[in-house]
Amino acid sequence: MTCHFIPPYLLRQLATKAGDERVGPSPQSTLEVDEAFRLHRTTAARGLQTAVAPSTADRIIHTANNTQTLPGEVARTDEQPPVGDLAVDEAWDSSAQVWDLFDQIFGRASMDGQGTTLSVTVHYGVNYDNAFWDGQQLVFGDGDGKIFDRFTKPMDVLAHEFTHGVTQFTAALGYQDQPGALNESVSDVFAAMTKQRALDQTADQADWLIGEGLFLPSVKAIALRSMKDPGTAYDDPLLGKDPQVGSMADYVDTNEDNGGVHLNSGIPNRAFALASIAVGGRSWDQTGKAWYDALTGGEVNSTTDFAGFAQATINSSTRLFGADSAVTQQISAAWTEVGVLGARTAPAQPETDGAGAPTDGPLPVTKVAVKRTGGFAGHTRTGELDLLSDPQGEEVRNLLLSVDLQDLLVSPPTPDRFTYTVEYGQSRLVVPEQDLTPELDRVVRMVLGD
Ligand SMILES: [Zn+2]
Repeated sequence: MTCHFIPPYLLRQLATKAGDERVGPSPQSTLEVDEAFRLHRTTAARGLQTAVAPSTADRIIHTANNTQTLPGEVARTDEQPPVGDLAVDEAWDSSAQVWDLFDQIFGRASMDGQGTTLSVTVHYGVNYDNAFWDGQQLVFGDGDGKIFDRFTKPMDVLAHEFTHGVTQFTAALGYQDQPGALNESVSDVFAAMTKQRALDQTADQADWLIGEGLFLPSVKAIALRSMKDPGTAYDDPLLGKDPQVGSMADYVDTNEDNGGVHLNSGIPNRAFALASIAVGGRSWDQTGKAWYDALTGGEVNSTTDFAGFAQATINSSTRLFGADSAVTQQISAAWTEVGVLGARTAPAQPETDGAGAPTDGPLPVTKVAVKRTGGFAGHTRTGELDLLSDPQGEEVRNLLLSVDLQDLLVSPPTPDRFTYTVEYGQSRLVVPEQDLTPELDRVVRMVLGD
């Protein structure tokens, strides 16, 4: 199983504003200019961390050196001191935080519970706007330098991806519709606990933000998602408004993003935040333990829906703290508040994007259209190229003609990875990033203007 971080709706917004100077790959110089400022902010953030038990984390950080070769070269391991590469050192620190949350609070050694060494790769690809778990290791891009900063920068991005690995080894929630939104939510829940524990915050002190610092300062955003108030993390001329929902009344039915997994995850996210704040104290002491027990106790599986997961957290809390305990009652109240339990059910919603196709209706045979959906931030990017008038038209047409559909392998949806839709006349191909052939990879890059 693979797991990526950025969602589709943001990318669609970006594509419609393609003339904006912030869209597109960043010159190397922009990255270098920002380096001193970033270093300052990273150091300041680390200063907030309080003393917790020494880390037991066993990890190796690699660098792909801006290629897509995994795992790449070893960049930091054992008890080496900081190496001076921000992405490497951030991944080193964040992996210790999430490892220690699972080990010291929930008694789980590494993702698999067997203490297996964690493998992380940074500097993946060029201007790569995503982070993912590929079933073997965590992978991080450097961001485009225009909208997204380094994906290693906020510690909760790494914790989110690590938790996809824990989910894979435990409940094995699917990655489509409600089980997929739960898979996403569980990753945010444990990411939030990782950050709150590192900052030594109680539930009511916490900001409940995911991906704070991931957007560059020119973007009007406080973070990528808000667990306490889904839909309020950003409102930017380029990105649009955060479309996440926090209640079943607003549940989004869509074919994009594996059934809106990054949108509807706001509903269980908000239930966890509401319950934790109502219970008081540290989120990992009570509600977090109920969530962990539900995830690992055997009641939740690949097809569990919101109501099934809600019941599992109540059952776990009852076992751990008693049926009449405040935590059990607050968990139940929170699931009712977000409309998952109780009388309120989801009304029928129109689909936000019927077929998930880049354009309406069949394309003229002289055009090719590409759409990229999925990913950690849930961004969509689209592009179109005219095969007759575009200077690259002939190359794209020859590449498309050379694609052998028999050779295309299409794997099941995997957390946080991109999916590409390629339309050419009446033909339409939907291919996960990891299954792109070299020819299709070149086509999607040219049409999207990478
Ligand atoms: Zn994810």
